[in-house]
Amino acid sequence: TLDVGWALRWVRGSAEVVAEHRAELIELDRQIGDGDHGENMHRGFTATVARLDALEEPPAQVGDVLKLLATTLMSTVGGAAGPLYGTAYLRAAKVTGLTELDSAAVVAMLEAALEGIVARGKAAPGEKTMVDAWTPAVAAAVAAADRGEPPAAVLAAAAEAAADGVEATIPLIATKGRASYLGERSAGHADPGATSTALLIRAAADAAA
Ligand code: ADP
Ligand code: MG
Ligand code: MG
Repeated sequence: TLDVGWALRWVRGSAEVVAEHRAELIELDRQIGDGDHGENMHRGFTATVARLDALEEPPAQVGDVLKLLATTLMSTVGGAAGPLYGTAYLRAAKVTGLTELDSAAVVAMLEAALEGIVARGKAAPGEKTMVDAWTPAVAAAVAAADRGEPPAAVLAAAAEAAADGVEATIPLIATKGRASYLGERSAGHADPGATSTALLIRAAADAAA
């Protein structure tokens, strides 16, 4: 069941996976950006886990966990990714004020996250950003929910599509964010923010499995 326990496992699992892939995210961002994406994400999730550990009362709802994550990322992660992920999780928190998510609620959560990222960063699909992982993830989640799949399977479908979305960013030329300064030289590398997105959605699926 996708309850507050799941949300807590998701956030703690995200922190672990970000720590494991810190060097990889740094290396990807070194290729087409300024090399700080792994460090930025690691700082944000480490701070979030510290705040969770310090809570006197456990959060009651999924949305409370996502709101704490959002506000911590906004205040501790600099650069582009902090406000983008912060907005994503804040929007997701607003549609998850429930004790338990069904498949429709999982879709609503992922859609809200993508809408937040687009509202904030104004990137369209194909511009070699995290939008290129979130967009196929949302589409796959919608399709899985329409097939009547349970919430955990909806997340698993989203995670797989996000990973495919990362691969699809490799040949793209960046036209948003720092990587766009490289122009054509940005082609040939996976986008760091799309890569972290796929890790975070995979963590959501793993926490539900
Ligand atoms: P910075 O580029 O400020 O150093 P990060 O390295 O933490 O920030 O994050 C870079 C990632 O942010 C990129 O790989 C890309 O996925 C994402 N990004 C940058 N600009 C945008 C945007 N306008 N819309 C969506 N995602 C963006
Ligand atoms: Mg960077
Ligand atoms: Mg930076």
